[in-house]
Formats: sequence, C-alpha cells, structure tokens
Amino acid sequence: MSGAEEAGGGGPAAGPAGSVPSGVGVGVGAGPGAAAGQAAAAALGEAAGPGLPDEAGLAGARQLQLQEAAGDPDAPPKKRLRAAEAAEAAAAAAAAGSGKLEERLYSVLCCTVCLDLPKASVYQCTNGHLMCAGCFIHLLADARLKEEQATCPNCRCEISKSLCCRNLAVEKAVSELPSECGFCLRQFPRSLLERHQKEECQDRVTQCKYKRIGCPWHGPFHELTVHEAACAHPTKTGSELMEILDGMDQSHRKEMQLYNSIFSLLSFEKIGYTEVQFRPYRTDDFITRLYYETPRFTVLNQTWVLKARVNDSERNPNLSCKRTLSFQLLLKSKVTAPLECSFLLLKGPYDDVRISPVIYHFVFTNESNETDYVPLPIIDSVECNKLLAAKNINLRLFLFQIQK
Ligand SMILES: [Zn+2]
Ligand SMILES: [Zn+2]
Ligand SMILES: [Zn+2]
Ligand SMILES: [Zn+2]
Repeated sequence: MSGAEEAGGGGPAAGPAGSVPSGVGVGVGAGPGAAAGQAAAAALGEAAGPGLPDEAGLAGARQLQLQEAAGDPDAPPKKRLRAAEAAEAAAAAAAAGSGKLEERLYSVLCCTVCLDLPKASVYQCTNGHLMCAGCFIHLLADARLKEEQATCPNCRCEISKSLCCRNLAVEKAVSELPSECGFCLRQFPRSLLERHQKEECQDRVTQCKYKRIGCPWHGPFHELTVHEAACAHPTKTGSELMEILDGMDQSHRKEMQLYNSIFSLLSFEKIGYTEVQFRPYRTDDFITRLYYETPRFTVLNQTWVLKARVNDSERNPNLSCKRTLSFQLLLKSKVTAPLECSFLLLKGPYDDVRISPVIYHFVFTNESNETDYVPLPIIDSVECNKLLAAKNINLRLFLFQIQK
C-alpha cells in the first residue's frame, strides 16, 4: 500500500494526540511523513482558517513529496507504517478542529516531519518550521549520505546545526500539553507522564520479583501482589533452580570475559592510544559513496590509518532506516617482523557517542597490512545518525602489541 492511500484512509480518530507512538529515526526524509504532513496541514487549514497563510504555500512542495513517496516501493516498511500512524494523527487533528484547545495545539506544535509531539529538543528552520531533535539529526545524516545540503522538508531552505536554533517556547508548551498514559489511558501533562508511567501507574507492566530465579510472569502492577503470593518459583527445588541459574550465569560470564580480557590487555608492555578523527570523503565512482578516513597517525612507533564506511557500502544507505558503521585499521609503515596486535575503539574524550567495547585482533605484516572491515559496535541507528550528522567522528583508538 502506498503512503498516499494510507494517508487517505486513516480510520477513525485514534484518540488524543499523545497516544501516537513515537519513534526516533524513522519516518523522516521526503517520504510518507511529508505525505501525512499534508493531511495534517489540510486539517490545520480547516481548524485555523486563514490564520496560517504560510501552510498553504507549502502544499505544492508537499504534494511533490507525496508523489515521490507513493511511487517509492523501496521505502522502508517502518516508514510506511509511520505514515499510517501519522494519517491517524492527522485524522485526530481534523476531528479536533472543533474540539479542545489542547487538541488543536497538537497540530500546531508537532514536528513537521514525523508529526509527533517532540519529546525533547525542538529545532526550527529559518522560516520557523519545527523539527524534533531525532528528525533534525536524521535529515542532516541523510544529507551527508547523499552529499547534499540538508534542507527543511517544508520550505526547502537550508538547515544545519548553525542555521537552526532551538525553540524553547515550543518545548515548554509541549511539556504542558496533556498526554495519555499508554497503560491506564488517563491524561497527564507530558512533563509528568514519564514518572507516572514508570513509577505510579497501577496498570504499568511489571515483572515478578522471582524473575531472578526464572519466573517469566509479567503483567499490570495491580496484579503483581496476587501473582507473587501465588508464584510457584520460590517453591522450586534446589536442582531446578540450579538449571535456571546456569543459563543466566552463562551470559554474565561472557560479559565478564570481555572485561577481564580488557584488564589483562592493560598490563601489556606495549600499549598505545590516540585520539582519531574520521573525516567524511566521497569515492570517485560514478555514483559516489560516503566513506570516512582519518589522517595518518603514529601509535607504537608505527604509522596507521583508519577507514570507515556506512552500511557496508550498501548502494543507497539513505533509503534504509538501519544505519551501521564498520571500520578497518591499516598499517602504513613497513615492519621487520609480524606485528601482532589487539585493538579497540572507544568514544573520544569530548564526544558523546555510545559504543560497546569489542576487542579485535590482527597480525600485521608487509604483505597483509590491513584488517577486514569490522563492525563499529555503536548501540543503535539513532546513535549512528548522530555520528553521521556531526562534522567529524572523534574516537579513541587503543592498540596493544602482543609480544611472544
Ligand atoms: Zn520529528
Ligand atoms: Zn522550513
Ligand atoms: Zn497510567
Ligand atoms: Zn512469579
């Protein structure tokens, strides 16, 4: 089904605006999000009348995006799903035209890309179009992948970290808007919702306290006491429990092994580390591809270079919601004997990217002086987009020379 069909057929109003699930990093770009944006704009037009002449002028640009989206069978499924949700949100906004003030405000304050109410920072283009932080970063990352100047999906003006500023008034207004608890469906101001859902809601999903010894039960908080009183797990025999605990120990052991090996590497005689800065470049193929490379650097008296690529050089990484980076370590100087190394990339001292530590291992010789591409263990695609949106990627490389 195309984004256009879904946008047209978004069933009955899906409750208040706050119930629309959010997702950072999907539904961005000139795709179905924009299609639903048009629906929302139409709804807004009805609701607000001539008060917002700005929106009318944008309909043309959105129509164009709508057509692009409709003809794009490669659009990631998540994107298309988001279009359906956004259409419901638009329908909700339309229904709200005659409804409560809060509901009308929803369509004014929502992100113009994903149509959700922003959860954290809100950015605006020089013409005032609002974007949530996730969409903003995703747009910048997309532009980097396509080697284009990032533009506002509404008015096509240039956007960048220096051109766009935050809109604190919108951020504060959004945090005051009522929002529905996903469990008990009662309304709360957005600013209180998180605490309510985490700590106070009687319907929130909880787990049995005997989960530690293998009870899989989970259910609403108000049933927890009854379950725990009747739970069979505390009466299990010692040998039954041993089996359950064994499974848990195994995953724990793996983690400990990793940390132990890092600690033993730290007692090696020859250790070197340095800050590395990956800079973006384009290949000179017919269809150019983004890749990253560091300037040459010296560690352990050898000269090295690091390279990185996006989605393992997939043809159109900008069409995919999933983003990954992989990297390769190259030895640039000549060695007189094989150089056996363990190496590890971690976040740099000034950057805030979440990477889980993974130790790689390689024997460098003059004939074989580059490692394969190995995954840069970034936590998720959202983190990866953060890196792509930045000017450079700053990490710290550790090298441990293994001496026989
Ligand atoms: Zn957004
Ligand atoms: Zn704009
Ligand atoms: Zn609740
Ligand atoms: Zn239980």
